[in-house]
This record gives sequence, C-alpha cells and structure tokens, in this order.
Amino acid sequence: MQVPFDDYAQAAGVATELVNTAPCVWNGTDKLSDVAELETFVTTHVPASWAPGLDAAVPTDDDLAATHGLRDALRTLIDSGDAQEIVRRATELTGSVGTLSLAVDDDVTRWQAITAPEAPLADQLGLLTGVGVLGVTHALGVERFRSCASPDCAGVFIDTSRNGARRYCMPGLCGNRVNVAAHRARQRAQ
Ligand SMILES: [Zn+2]
Repeated sequence: MQVPFDDYAQAAGVATELVNTAPCVWNGTDKLSDVAELETFVTTHVPASWAPGLDAAVPTDDDLAATHGLRDALRTLIDSGDAQEIVRRATELTGSVGTLSLAVDDDVTRWQAITAPEAPLADQLGLLTGVGVLGVTHALGVERFRSCASPDCAGVFIDTSRNGARRYCMPGLCGNRVNVAAHRARQRAQ
C-alpha cells in the first residue's frame, strides 16, 4: 500500500466507509461479514494505484478479524472528538509504515507513505486510514470528526468537504430519510 499524503481526504473517506459497515449502524447486520465482502470493500474503496497487486490477494479470515479490530479502533477514535487522542490512536494505526518516499510521475512528485513488505491487509488499511485521519486533523481540524445528524442513525463520519457542512454519514441514505420525514411532518401539519 502506498498512500499519497496529498490525498488524505480520500483516505479519510475510506475510514468513514469502513466504520459505517459496523453492525451498530445497520440494526445489527454487519456489512463486512465475510472475506468476500472485505474483498469487495477493498476493490471498491481503495484506489488501485495505491495498492498495486492488492486486488489479486484474496483476504483470509485473519484479515477479516483484524479489519474488524481496525474498524472498532477508528470508531473509538472518531467518537473521542479529542485532538490528542485522535492523533495518538491514528499514529498507532500507521505502525505498518515501511518507508516514506516520493512518487515521480513525469515532472510531478508526490509524498507518500509505503507499507512494509508483507504487511497484512488490515495493517495496510491501518496506514491508509491513519494517514487520512492525521491529514484531516492537521489540515481541517478535529471538529471534522462527527456523528450523523439523522436521529435514527448511529453512523459517524469524517467531513472532508470544502465548506465543512456535511451532516450525514451516508448523505444519499440518511439525508434522504431526514428529508422524507420532514416532508411527511409538513404534510401532516397542513
Ligand atoms: Zn447516518
């Protein structure tokens, strides 16, 4: 895994997607319940250029269990809302870092963190999400770590929007649900 520091917002987005696969967000249903779902998660959310060859590696049950651990750690981190704790916990997640380097593409260079060789999948995802969390904390601030504004939702998210006005963990789902409820309430009131 190689994670460009400039792409911290996209990396934080992967952290948001991961925490919101948890059973507590889906009335007890785990959206990352087997290795096939883990494989789909990785190919869907991790850019192929960050993880050359990762899509060829089939995750194991150990990878799944460790990724659940990472998911719990990210949830605790986001819920804490405290800068020191967020930085401490995110730093722990980056333990699989092997080297820091520059990717050179024509005349463009990019800072990136690269995992140590043979790092397990969950450790690679730990580096990815850790870079995302640290980047957002540094560039945007800890107020970007928030709970979903939908009263029916237990999801959380890291707001990487330009204006910082994101309200929902899954805007298409939770935002719509709130809008529909408000619409029905207005209709009842009329
Ligand atoms: Zn939500």
